[in-house]
Amino acid sequence: MVKMDDLLKPHVICVPLPAQGHINPMLRLAKLLHFNGFYITFVHTQFNFDRLMKSRGQDSLKGLSGFRFETISDGLPPANQRGILDLPALCTTLPVDGLSSLRDLIARLGDSPDVPPVTCILSDGVTGFTLKVAQEFNIPEFMLFTPSACGLLGYLNFEELQKRGYFPLKDEKNLFDGYLDTAVDWVPEMKGVRLKDLPTFFRTTDPSETMFHYNVDCVNNAVKAKGIILNTFEDLEAEVLDGIRKKYPQLYPIGPLPMLLKQFLSSNNQIDSIELNLWKEDVECLEWLNKKDPGSVVYVNFGSLVIVTPKQLSEFAWGLANSKYHFLWVIRPNLVDGGEEVISEEFLKQTRERGLFLGWCPQEKVLGHPSVGGFLTHCGWNSTLETICEGVPVMCWPFFAEQQTNCFYACDEWGIGMEIDNDVKREQVEGLVRELMGGEKGKEMRKKAMEWKHRAEVATSPGGSSYINFNNLVKQLKTSP
Ligand code: UDP
Repeated sequence: MVKMDDLLKPHVICVPLPAQGHINPMLRLAKLLHFNGFYITFVHTQFNFDRLMKSRGQDSLKGLSGFRFETISDGLPPANQRGILDLPALCTTLPVDGLSSLRDLIARLGDSPDVPPVTCILSDGVTGFTLKVAQEFNIPEFMLFTPSACGLLGYLNFEELQKRGYFPLKDEKNLFDGYLDTAVDWVPEMKGVRLKDLPTFFRTTDPSETMFHYNVDCVNNAVKAKGIILNTFEDLEAEVLDGIRKKYPQLYPIGPLPMLLKQFLSSNNQIDSIELNLWKEDVECLEWLNKKDPGSVVYVNFGSLVIVTPKQLSEFAWGLANSKYHFLWVIRPNLVDGGEEVISEEFLKQTRERGLFLGWCPQEKVLGHPSVGGFLTHCGWNSTLETICEGVPVMCWPFFAEQQTNCFYACDEWGIGMEIDNDVKREQVEGLVRELMGGEKGKEMRKKAMEWKHRAEVATSPGGSSYINFNNLVKQLKTSP
């Protein structure tokens, strides 16, 4: 049933990149806007929508009036739709198929008497094809970049890497011969950063690398947006944000979004009824955690896109087993390259009392559980922020994209992390787990993580920087011509 009140609301169309780490922050922002008087159309790809329906059912999408879901096509052929997203293929097809289906969608919504007129497109920073549609329909567009500010500043420097001859690499050997230790000394807002801490897509001898050029186009295209929104907070990334403002003066750092959302939900007595996850969560792990001592469990999760080799999995497994700590380990069905069963009987026997394996978990709740004492993470930005929100220190094993940049900042700037070598060895995992859970360094990192949690709470509370920036964004979205 159409509510008259809803028809009077400003109407924002939210278009995330169709990956879990992009959908989550966009959906959180969409909910925040909805609670602040906006009508929301949230756009999934048809593929993800079908997946959500299958794994979670209709219930996951109902519950809010004036908050609806629509779909566009991602143009990916079925061969690429195996659960692990083929990013380079997506970056080729989405700007074509996504564009035409978004155009159709907005035209259809414009003809519908059941929805208010579309007043704004809120797009992911890396789905810039939406700017063309915004222009065609004369609708203002705002963009949410979902990486960290430090990651984004890395992408903003990709063209400079090319100008200075760092991209493409001269030789494959540069990946291993110390070349990547070169200081990035031309970016004053990123002190101490080396080439190897920048987003990884420049690490190739191929001058036509899709992900490199796609990111360059995206950050350049984004200057056409009315404003750029970031899921971070001033206190955490102050210098880097200054660097980004040179390119995007209209900047809204409003994170951590999970915390800002909680703040709004609790102060407005609202219930959050829309699920974030494309996978079904195993909630029994919370029962398991309830039976453990405070701070005694290592939580291991590499997010939605990382793929590990059987050998790497085995090194992590034995490192964890030999540490003798309890662990909760999320092993997605498509986490291991080749998909073979690599957790041995012997390993399971040795860790029966101490280990729990599952396919997907409610991560925010797990990180917020008092039994969790440390997080072994790939440093995806959502995971990094979610761990900051709960004051949990990390062991970092960055895989790709800007995870390397997040790892550098977590370890060297924020003091909440320790890095595991890319070529992971069980002895190092064992040693770092012991240090993280029971050592002096671990204690200090925990203290730092709690300090950052507190600073994030300040930022997202009334009067805090993210809270103020969000309110300014709301005003801007309501008045932008
Ligand atoms: N996530 C989750 N349960 C899991 C694994 C991941 O809820 O078992 C969520 C996590 O909380 C985060 C997102 O999925 O919000 C992953 O995003 P991130 O940026 O950390 O990594 P990506 O998947 O993009 O590499």
